[in-house]
Amino acid sequence: MQIIRLEDYLYLVDLETGGIENFIASYILKGKQAAIIETGPTLSVPNLLSSLKQLKIQPENVAYVAVSHIHLDHGGGVGTLIKHLPKAKVIVHPRGASHLVNPEKLWQQSKIVLGEITKIYGEPEPVPAGRIIPAVDGVTFDVGNGITFKVVETLGHASHHVSYYEPLSYGVFTGDAAGIYLPEIDVIVPTTPPPFHLNVALESLDKLVRLKPKVLYYSHFGKAEDAMEKLQAYVQQIKLWERIAKEGVQRGEDLEAVRKRIIENDEGVKKASKYLITHKVLSETTLRESIQGFIDFVKKEKESQK
Ligand SMILES: [Zn+2]
Repeated sequence: MQIIRLEDYLYLVDLETGGIENFIASYILKGKQAAIIETGPTLSVPNLLSSLKQLKIQPENVAYVAVSHIHLDHGGGVGTLIKHLPKAKVIVHPRGASHLVNPEKLWQQSKIVLGEITKIYGEPEPVPAGRIIPAVDGVTFDVGNGITFKVVETLGHASHHVSYYEPLSYGVFTGDAAGIYLPEIDVIVPTTPPPFHLNVALESLDKLVRLKPKVLYYSHFGKAEDAMEKLQAYVQQIKLWERIAKEGVQRGEDLEAVRKRIIENDEGVKKASKYLITHKVLSETTLRESIQGFIDFVKKEKESQK
């Protein structure tokens, strides 16, 4: 586990989930109290707790644990984490809350979709309903010393997804709304598993662009300075994927054929494909689930136009 100080008041923790570096980040805002943005999954919660210790943050001083959405790699660890944080409230989109209170269905569903990857993540533990605060668009949370973060509802990747805006650095904690950033090779790849809603995702990206952020804090992974360029490039990239998926569906291609053409036509993914293919998790999620999300989306669009 590695801690990187991004600002006087902001830290990135590389959770090293499953021993994988530069994969899942958690962010800690430290004012008079502290807030944790993204917990990562259950099995890397011990790493997150030891980073709190290293930063000399007392468990009872953590006021908020905010997640972008409930997928295991973002919010799977909340239930386990807050057992150690007696005063922390959990901030989550209202549509995600019930799945944190009763995570059984989420866990079963994740095992079907992610298979072996769930062994790297671990089973989520329930969150007491009384500790949840709904993440309503526009609401700001304050941890003192002028450190705040604001909910920005960014649906599309999921129907219960939010990002958080941090005004001091003009930064956005994007969750999965702006893709997966691979800092080693400076490439973004889509994270668009089914049921993916492209139109909604594009509206959310537009919303983020209108904030004119300077910095993005990706959950996968890390800080990127050229926020506007990154957001705009992601918009173009998912439009390209849509075009390729549409052609594929028209020609009756399978997932493998669509994937091949995406790798051929998307410079970033071409550059990233070696990295992705050997990655324990991203090989499955990005090159399989994210492409399936587009195929399902364009099929549904086609159906609705009949
Ligand atoms: Zn997700």
